[in-house]
Amino acid sequence: MNSEFERDFIAEAATLLAHDEPFPGGAVVPPIYQTSLFTFDSYAEMADVFAGRSTKPIYSRGNNPTVMEFESKIAALEGADAARGFSSGMAAISSTVLAFVGAGQRIVAIRNCYGDAYRLFERLLPHLGIKVDYVDGSDPDAVKAALPGAAMLYLESPTSMMFELQDLEVLTALAKAQGIVTVIDNSWATPLFQKPILHGVDVVMHSASKYLGGHSDTVAGVVAGSAEHIRRINERTYPYLGAKLSPFEAWLLLRGLRTLPLRLPHHMKSALTIAERLKGHGHVERVNHPAFSNHPGKKTLTGYSGLFSFEVTDDIDVPAFTDALKLFRIGVSWGGHESLVVPALASLQQTPDANSIGRFGVSPRTIRLNIGLENVEDLWADVSRAFESATRK
Ligand SMILES: *Cc1c(COP(=O)(O)O)cnc(C)c1O
Repeated sequence: MNSEFERDFIAEAATLLAHDEPFPGGAVVPPIYQTSLFTFDSYAEMADVFAGRSTKPIYSRGNNPTVMEFESKIAALEGADAARGFSSGMAAISSTVLAFVGAGQRIVAIRNCYGDAYRLFERLLPHLGIKVDYVDGSDPDAVKAALPGAAMLYLESPTSMMFELQDLEVLTALAKAQGIVTVIDNSWATPLFQKPILHGVDVVMHSASKYLGGHSDTVAGVVAGSAEHIRRINERTYPYLGAKLSPFEAWLLLRGLRTLPLRLPHHMKSALTIAERLKGHGHVERVNHPAFSNHPGKKTLTGYSGLFSFEVTDDIDVPAFTDALKLFRIGVSWGGHESLVVPALASLQQTPDANSIGRFGVSPRTIRLNIGLENVEDLWADVSRAFESATRK
């Protein structure tokens, strides 16, 4: 672990993630409660639960014990009172946004936020009377100027194509002073490398499909926050939009989480090795990795995960480079065991208005790598070979 990091959240999380009180029958792994409903012993018990005098799952669209097991681990990891599991990261994001923002209101979002969050903002929210303004989140003055009258400040630090950082403490203080709720997509760092609630963020959202699951076998999401903020999500969106997490997927996530403290340092080390070598490579113009940034937003990160991007010089044929890679498979998503490549040249085609203010400064020579758990020297050999075969003569 890098000495510049004050707290070792990995050491702090290891026991929480590896140790459980015994489950029924002494089982070390929680049962998958594959049931839609839970019955009551009596009229009185049902009436008590419905009136909120006692708690017990009623129906799995609201609560399910396997899902609750996952939610309690994430709440503990994020330093939150409570968490809610969702069927996807996008369900977590849309259910959070719609719980706090309504018709006639405005969101201030950082530019270059996750692509489908951007498309949610551009394609659905205008029909609901909600406006989104995009700002350069790395510039506190730009955020400050945009905030008055907003209902939500939407962050993602770092962003997942350009890896721009935001100063969480400064931005949340600006929002708090105006009573504006701050939310963050913390999928990149995970709670093992950044705990936004400690720095003033109200609600933390994740695509659990990435590092939390970690095996590229599940699409899921989760939201963590104070009891009051999670209550608002429970009262307005969670049961009614119905994007619940399934018990089996919660079980897969619990299984993935146990090795998160082992996987992340490996991703971090390998990604830093590749990023450093790219930085010194003659065919690379810049490397977008938070480790190389001087932005104060870096101070809330206690480590770096394995996703970053770089820009190649214009004598590199990007499609040929992509096709020449053998170990890096061509595909979206990240955070799993396998290394992946996404050329911005292809992904920009998903957003016809690319390089508007919402999608800013993404060069078509940007290539994003997800560094998996393979041997780092094998990965580097693959990258080096791809450069050789993709250089225009
Ligand atoms: C993948 C991703 C999401 C969306 O999550 P899904 O689980 O795919 O719905 C949100 N934010 C970021 C940064 C992501 O990479």
